[in-house]
Amino acid sequence: MRAMRLIDNQLQVTEVPRPQAAGEALARIEYAGICATDVAIAKGGYASFSGTLGHEFVGVVEAAPDPAWIGRRVVADINIGCGRCADCAAGNARHCARRAVLGIRGRDGAFAEYVALPAANLYAVPAAVSPLEAVFAEPLAAAHRILEQVAAPPGTRIGILGDGKLGQLIAQVFHAHGAAATLIGRHARKLEVAAQLGIPVRLAAELKAAARVFDVMVEATGRDSGFADALRLTRPRGTVVLKSTFHGAWSLPPSAVVVPELTIIGSRCGDLSKALDLLARKAVRPTVLVDAIYDLEDGIAAFRRAMTPGALKTLLRASG
Ligand SMILES: [Zn+2]
Ligand SMILES: [Zn+2]
Repeated sequence: MRAMRLIDNQLQVTEVPRPQAAGEALARIEYAGICATDVAIAKGGYASFSGTLGHEFVGVVEAAPDPAWIGRRVVADINIGCGRCADCAAGNARHCARRAVLGIRGRDGAFAEYVALPAANLYAVPAAVSPLEAVFAEPLAAAHRILEQVAAPPGTRIGILGDGKLGQLIAQVFHAHGAAATLIGRHARKLEVAAQLGIPVRLAAELKAAARVFDVMVEATGRDSGFADALRLTRPRGTVVLKSTFHGAWSLPPSAVVVPELTIIGSRCGDLSKALDLLARKAVRPTVLVDAIYDLEDGIAAFRRAMTPGALKTLLRASG
């Protein structure tokens, strides 16, 4: 089968054997999404990964130990725990120290014609959700994760810093939740995408001199300036949620957190069933973020597109 692999830090679309699915499910990929993490890995700045990239996908199961899965459209939790440690036993494979992560850590991912995964990681896509919507389930779950971590009762002022793919999904999730959330970014064109959905937006430049504006600030810029900006815009005793898997170093005086008594929360992967529920209810509209769809064969060009400043979601179409 065809797969887009990172070999010696070089991206290549190449022929590889179809994954062996002994004891696991094998899904034929329909769409896969390129996210900032993939770009960071390909640039060599994230993890020393070698193999098939890709962790955002929707596909159809072709083989599985339990035949009930066969023929079903699925998305998947990307964390594969060891199954033996205390974290795994507590149902917390996401934090298993020995976990593999699809297309990120120790496991071939979904930029391919087929992917193999434990059936326990699969979530059936409801009939009301199209493949083009379902491919957003993984990043949407990561966006929804914030609602599991932060109380946002009515009246909470929420700012989301970063108008990229993840910031947009976070803004949509809060908007669907009925929260007063403002998306703050540097690109008028991207902010317009959110504004079209009725989400309040602000240009970051307009808030350069502002401070202590929001009760909750979500940092999703992927930039080195994001942390300081998020702290500045948070009111005393407010909460800063960090979503960027930014791998540079943030430096700032501890007093910027200590004096205003800020709470800082790291936030990563979320519950896929929550994302599928949002999609089935049409509470969010992720497909407005699709910039371009490339065939897997043209994956290198797709990556180039995804790296273009101002780009939103680039998808790969794997079936054909
Ligand atoms: Zn991702
Ligand atoms: Zn484990």
